[in-house]
Amino acid sequence: MKLLTHAAEVITGSGVRRKFGRQPKVDDMDRIPDGAMVYDEKRILWVGKTKDLPKRFAKLKAQSLKNKKIVTPGLVDCHTHLVHAGSRSEEFAARCAGESYESIAKRGGGIWSTVRATREATEAELFKLACERVEYARSTGVKVIESKSGYGLNIEGEIKQLNVNQLLKKKFNDMIFSSTFLGAHDFPKDQPRADYIRDICDVMLPLVAKKKLADCCDVFSDRGYYTPEETRYILSRAKELGLDIKVHADELQNTEATDLAVDLGAWSADHLLKVSEASVRRIAHSNTVAVLLPGTAFFLKTPYAPARRLIDDGARVAIATDFNPGSCNNFSLRFMMTLSALFMNMSAAEIFAAVTFNAAAALRLEKTIGTLEVGLKPLFSLFDAEKFEDIYYKMTV
Ligand SMILES: [Zn+2]
Repeated sequence: MKLLTHAAEVITGSGVRRKFGRQPKVDDMDRIPDGAMVYDEKRILWVGKTKDLPKRFAKLKAQSLKNKKIVTPGLVDCHTHLVHAGSRSEEFAARCAGESYESIAKRGGGIWSTVRATREATEAELFKLACERVEYARSTGVKVIESKSGYGLNIEGEIKQLNVNQLLKKKFNDMIFSSTFLGAHDFPKDQPRADYIRDICDVMLPLVAKKKLADCCDVFSDRGYYTPEETRYILSRAKELGLDIKVHADELQNTEATDLAVDLGAWSADHLLKVSEASVRRIAHSNTVAVLLPGTAFFLKTPYAPARRLIDDGARVAIATDFNPGSCNNFSLRFMMTLSALFMNMSAAEIFAAVTFNAAAALRLEKTIGTLEVGLKPLFSLFDAEKFEDIYYKMTV
């Protein structure tokens, strides 16, 4: 058994859980000043004020945090594309200097340049790159990471990325990884569209399900990418094979992909930059989590997702990095928290819920993690801070 004492605050989030993550208010954070926590390898045994520590734990050797650190539920980054090779710094510079996306794509840039580099990299090379990135994320307090494939766009390439996810699970055993198959990220340039969809449904998905390489299947459903019909077809096949589902929805244009995600019972609908009023109401009245990715809006200089409308209508809102080489080259969830406060007008309680309980719910992990309560897994983060607000007031990029 282990005992932490004199935390400047322990934030359990118990009220957030009671409300299923909807419309979290400051009291729902359940902030315990001068807090303490007792836990063993498997579960949390007690949480409260240091002065109220029960006698039965009094003999434990305490690790005092001297009121200089806070304890929160382990932060969850529930949407990333962390396994990839190659750099797009040159095209970033060109885009910022005024070159259009179409022109960049025409000369071999855009997602296709990452696909090429990722296909060329060996599994060991991809794993090494991913490890360096995960170590950085872990140093910022992140304990749970979702990782998508989607830069292979062929059978070998996709499986290679998912294998790296499995290696990450083994190496970082103090963290939790959720693996997502995103073969339907784009269409390959070297194969007809219908053939590729057939490969996804008849070859890749059965293999992924059989080898348990992914927990979830995601589709980039948007203008110029997968149509609503194709999205429904692929995700229905994934469900048939026992995989859960997610959708990249309404990012570039409103195609009602958010509604489709709700209809199909997806864990989450992600992006929602162009979501309609009707779809906001739809997702707000469902259990599907709205995952917002403010770093992408920042990096692409586009308007942010309507976080206020979603939260005020009662949606379960999470935020994540969307870390990827093209539209958000940043793997700091804490920076996303800062952006959410500045540009989506989210309160401390809403941001707290968005990177803990609701982000866990976007990965269907909320039954065991996401808050610090007796019986749950002892997955927590420590920060050099006096209070929760400090950790996103300081911009950690
Ligand atoms: Zn994404």
